[in-house]
Amino acid sequence: MRLILLGPPGAGKGTQAVRISERFGIPQLSTGDMLRAAVAAETPVGLDAKGIMARGDLVPDEVVVQIISDRIDEPDCKNGFILDGFPRTVAQAEALEALLEDKNMQLDSVVELAVDDTILIERIEKRAKESVGGPREDDNADALKKRLDVYHAQTAPLISHYGNKNMLRSVDGMADIERVTSEIISVLETA
Ligand code: AMP
Repeated sequence: MRLILLGPPGAGKGTQAVRISERFGIPQLSTGDMLRAAVAAETPVGLDAKGIMARGDLVPDEVVVQIISDRIDEPDCKNGFILDGFPRTVAQAEALEALLEDKNMQLDSVVELAVDDTILIERIEKRAKESVGGPREDDNADALKKRLDVYHAQTAPLISHYGNKNMLRSVDGMADIERVTSEIISVLETA
């Protein structure tokens, strides 16, 4: 199963991706996690991405597309994967379609976690307070506002992009964690 989890920052994509990954035995591919690892390892990609991520902007499309393309070629992706935080622009979605076609693969579903902005802000403030090892560099008020603006301007258009292709399933991301997981599973099993 090849799946995209779509939703704003703080919608619970990471939490749900881990649960869905366990349920279906397919890896979670989080571009945010991969980029944070690159920043920590001070690789050339990480050094370029560090400032962009800290202010809540998007890393250039070609950088994340290459990261995802390489990751999909790893053996653990042969039975499928969950994309968490990718694609984030229509250009990334189009690049994903092209690279999957090249690899003879098809996307099965796009699941949107729908959450209101007011709840997102509360959740991210809570995540910043509770995170072990200190908050993420971009879990602060300025970067969060920027990330939400970027989401609405650049990522939300993917909802109609995939809606037009009849691939989009929407789940209420404001319910409790267990319920969101079971809704995602039922959407995937009936897709
Ligand atoms: P996330 O962990 O998904 O919230 O991502 C954290 C940050 O990593 C984002 O605010 C962006 O700066 C960067 N990032 C993650 N995924 C992407 C992507 N698909 N395209 C561009 N930038 C990304």
